[in-house]
Amino acid sequence: MLITTRRHFIAAGAAALSHAMIARVASAQTPPASAGPVDPALIDDLVAANRILVDQGVVDGYGHVSVRHPGDPQRYLMSRSIAPELVTAADIMEYDLDSTAVDPRGRTSYLERFIHGEIYRVRPDVKAIVHNHSPSVIPFGVSTVPLKPIYHMSAFLGGGVPVFDIKAAAGGPTDMLVRTPALGRALATTLGARPVALMRGHGCVVVAPAIQMTVFRSVYTEMNARLQAQAMALGPVTYLDDEEARLAGASVGGTVVRPWELWRKKALAR
Ligand SMILES: [Zn+2]
Repeated sequence: MLITTRRHFIAAGAAALSHAMIARVASAQTPPASAGPVDPALIDDLVAANRILVDQGVVDGYGHVSVRHPGDPQRYLMSRSIAPELVTAADIMEYDLDSTAVDPRGRTSYLERFIHGEIYRVRPDVKAIVHNHSPSVIPFGVSTVPLKPIYHMSAFLGGGVPVFDIKAAAGGPTDMLVRTPALGRALATTLGARPVALMRGHGCVVVAPAIQMTVFRSVYTEMNARLQAQAMALGPVTYLDDEEARLAGASVGGTVVRPWELWRKKALAR
């Protein structure tokens, strides 16, 4: 009797354990709940942002842009893993800040989505994020020459552009991709309160309080890098000083809708 009871106890314990394990596995596999539908106009803007960034030479077959969910700051929206030029409204997926897809339906996610989730987590002011490998920016991530505002259009670069070194963050060599939450957190720490951080041997990340501004900053970060390299080839360069950058940033920052409407119209007409 005692043995039976003990066996029964052991069996019941094992059953309870296995139920707990099943529940844990199930909860790990259960996607997070959706924060609800989004205004289709915002989805259209996100699709347009993808196309604009292609047109402006900021992204090619790689790179991604996301926007924070307007109904829940713990969620963001981004395309499934495809080339930005091919993105349509049907490709937009919702993620939580762990960068787990709400409704993947077999769709694959960008490997580097943790860039987005981890920055949204620590930057409540940020409503949209671009990660790109825009070509003119790359030299400034691998050399000792800092990226600085060369004209009023890129005044937002005033105050410094930090460089993220993934080898230091990971404690050794990697494939250079921000493919884990920990690396995403390290990049977010390097970015700090700034609008742009370069990523050594890789690209950059650009953030802003609106999707139009994030696209604008991405375009003019690339432009500034190209112009700065050209100016440096001529000789010593005078950059915007901190006060000029502050004043110009406030003025130009109020006009970003103008190029956005032009870029959007052209990008969506194709
Ligand atoms: Zn990348």
